[in-house]
Amino acid sequence: MKLVILDRNGTINVHRDDFVKSEVEWTPLPHALEAIARLNHAGWHVVIASNQSGLGRGLFDVASLNAMHAKMHKMLAAVGGRVDAVFYCPHSPDEDCGCRKPQPGLFRQIGERYGIDLAGVPTAGDSLRDLQAGAAAGCEPHLLLTGMGAACRNVDPLPPEYPPDTHVHDDLGAFVEFLLAREAQQALLQVAV
Ligand SMILES: [Zn+2]
Repeated sequence: MKLVILDRNGTINVHRDDFVKSEVEWTPLPHALEAIARLNHAGWHVVIASNQSGLGRGLFDVASLNAMHAKMHKMLAAVGGRVDAVFYCPHSPDEDCGCRKPQPGLFRQIGERYGIDLAGVPTAGDSLRDLQAGAAAGCEPHLLLTGMGAACRNVDPLPPEYPPDTHVHDDLGAFVEFLLAREAQQALLQVAV
């Protein structure tokens, strides 16, 4: 199974410092939904791992979160894309749970749900904690320069707290381009052998 694990805010939809609290506030980043559709068409399954501490902080409820995701699924379907599942941490930071990124709990849940080892599974996000969580679960980390990631534009090398071998891309579309190009190259090499 070809699986990609994505962050949500700042990766798929526009980041808000005051939290995305409603369906109205959920707006996709330019070309992000089309990028997911491209992955799907190439046979990749996409799941989301998202911190949703707004729940634990009482900023919105599960019904509002479901409405955001219904909007996302509908907009994705309109461009021929699909996200298989959304795994989220509902806790506030002071609850000390094991699923709030940078903890790897959400990633572990994904591995268990699909019955796969996450070693080398590409994961993309716009913040350090996304990549730390993914790397702790064995995933291949990809930093996007959208959302919070914009602060890392022109930062080279990345600060040492980033996982070694973190790939950097302008946005979700560039990440997908990279994955598909690498896949095409590997297919050519197999033919050559
Ligand atoms: Zn949690």
